[in-house]
Amino acid sequence: MTVSIGVTGATGRMGGEVLAAAADRDDLSVAFAVSRSPGESVEGVAVEDAADFADLLASHDPDVVVDFTGPASCIEYASACAEAGVAFVTGTTGLSEGGFDALRESASEVPVLYASNFSRGIAALRRAVREAVPALDGYDIELTETHHNAKRDAPSGTALTLLDDIDDVRGESPRVHGREGEAPRSDGEVGVHARRAGDIAGEHEVLLAGNHESLSLTHRAGSRGVFAAGALDAAAWLADRDAGWYDFTEVLE
Ligand code: NAD
Repeated sequence: MTVSIGVTGATGRMGGEVLAAAADRDDLSVAFAVSRSPGESVEGVAVEDAADFADLLASHDPDVVVDFTGPASCIEYASACAEAGVAFVTGTTGLSEGGFDALRESASEVPVLYASNFSRGIAALRRAVREAVPALDGYDIELTETHHNAKRDAPSGTALTLLDDIDDVRGESPRVHGREGEAPRSDGEVGVHARRAGDIAGEHEVLLAGNHESLSLTHRAGSRGVFAAGALDAAAWLADRDAGWYDFTEVLE
């Protein structure tokens, strides 16, 4: 069975990657693509007006919508999908707590899968971090993430996921975002650093140091294609699920 998808943010960096990756797969077909700046075609797919999203859902009836846009539009698209009975995969980051609540509301109507990162390497990094932190009890932890110069939210959604993983395994830790001036480290804090430069697709390092040694766990995304491929795997997996909230780790398992 071919899973049909609608793609939002089609003229964005990730939207273009999703359309390019979808063109290479025979288990998926693109029903429609939208952008708030429609008109051009991306990867041979006509880009329609995002204002017509609800009508496009009704006329094309896709199995899943794949969304990489912004926090406000992500919630609006999810809610339109909930009304239309269409599953929703999103990698949009920067959502507030209220935003996540709204997304979870949609998940009571349709399957919704959110992942701050769709790469297999990050999934493995998360497992490694959850193992290393308790094994290196009392070591200082510093997290550094680096992204392209147009990224809007900081720290990255993936950094926040890694910080939550650290809290899960050693209890909630104070997070110190950058340091300036007289700023000595206090016991148990986690330093968080966000760098923005060039066209870097995404780098995350968790550094653990103590006892005259240090362990650095680092992931580097070589291109955004890795996220698009993971999101499409998630879409194919999500298509025939029941309504509910799903995680990318479930796709990988
Ligand atoms: P981008 O700026 O290149 O593209 C964003 C697209 O969304 C654009 O087409 C823009 O017009 C559209 N958009 C934004 N706000 C909108 C609104 N209110 N209504 C309609 N359309 C809107 O950004 P990008 O690099 O493609 O990243 C998009 C999102 O995906 C970001 O939140 C980013 O952090 C996230 N991201 C997630 C992963 C992951 O694996 N989960 C990987 C890369 C990027």
